[in-house]
Amino acid sequence: MIIIMHPEATPYEIDNVVAEVEAKGWQTHISRDSGQTIIGLQGNGQPIDPFFLGQMPGVEDTMAITQKFKLGSRAFRPEDTTFTIGEVTVGGQQLAVIAGPCSVESREQLLETAHAVKEAGATFLRGGAYKPRTSPYSFQGLGEKGLELLAEAREATGLPVVTEVMSPTKVALVAVYADVLQIGARNMQNYDLLNAVGRAQKPVLLKRGMSATLEDLLMAAEYILSHGNNQVMLCERGIRTFDNKYTRNTFDVNAIPLLKELTHLPVIADPSHGVGVRRHVPPVALAGIAAGADGLIIETHPDPDHAASDGAQSLTLEQFARLMEQVRAMAQAVDRTV
Ligand code: PEP
Ligand code: MN
Repeated sequence: MIIIMHPEATPYEIDNVVAEVEAKGWQTHISRDSGQTIIGLQGNGQPIDPFFLGQMPGVEDTMAITQKFKLGSRAFRPEDTTFTIGEVTVGGQQLAVIAGPCSVESREQLLETAHAVKEAGATFLRGGAYKPRTSPYSFQGLGEKGLELLAEAREATGLPVVTEVMSPTKVALVAVYADVLQIGARNMQNYDLLNAVGRAQKPVLLKRGMSATLEDLLMAAEYILSHGNNQVMLCERGIRTFDNKYTRNTFDVNAIPLLKELTHLPVIADPSHGVGVRRHVPPVALAGIAAGADGLIIETHPDPDHAASDGAQSLTLEQFARLMEQVRAMAQAVDRTV
């Protein structure tokens, strides 16, 4: 249930309502967007009579949320969530474009990429310092050295940094360097990690697990939101299907309009992991924007054929710049800016 307080409700009236429901064993989550206080009820308290609550001073309305996901639902918050990172507002009119290598490999590689993607119009720099690799024998990332290089590239370009955190014990360290904490597909249901990034109060890019339903993704987001961290972007990055002969994953374009309907959180499209084949990344990226995504995450590398990870799906710096031209045209067609 959510309780919508009157725009003129006093702090005393709000406290009274909170005390009433907490006395019945509920936890409360308070949101104060657009001048109105909304109290979300979480947990398993005793039944509450909505008629009684509706009569309490300052209460405008009460609403049952029938979906399993509550704080992320459109019922809880009808308007789109936006938040500002550096100078970029995510979830608004302007698309977020996150570009950079799959892995941070060296100072030269990262700085060259960062300057080039910035020049082409990217608004965030990505790069993995801790890499979740299928094989323990593959490159695992530069670790803290990679984080330092990301911070240096941010300093040099002004681009905020998105990087993955794989373990709850590393959240504090990664949060020192990163502007956005990425939760990878393989960790989407690592609940200790979700709780840790929720507590970190930093923006999060939550990637859909490769076999996760949209409801699984929204429930994972709920873990982060339940800590009062509302700065969550969801990311469609392709799912496993029966057809994996020509592509790495199947980019689920349906997910984008569906998520935009079900949740107020921004949605980012990842065509790089979604399709996994360099030449098919640009059309899938444009499809993501056409479908209503609030941004893109695109793997880009100065020499993709020699990349330490995900070279086959990484665009060259020139290809990324060409894609940005097309993204501008597509953005205009769907009433967005870049
Ligand atoms: C990545 O962004 O490089 C990555 C590992 O993505 P995913 O978790 O979606 O596989
Ligand atoms: Mn990758």
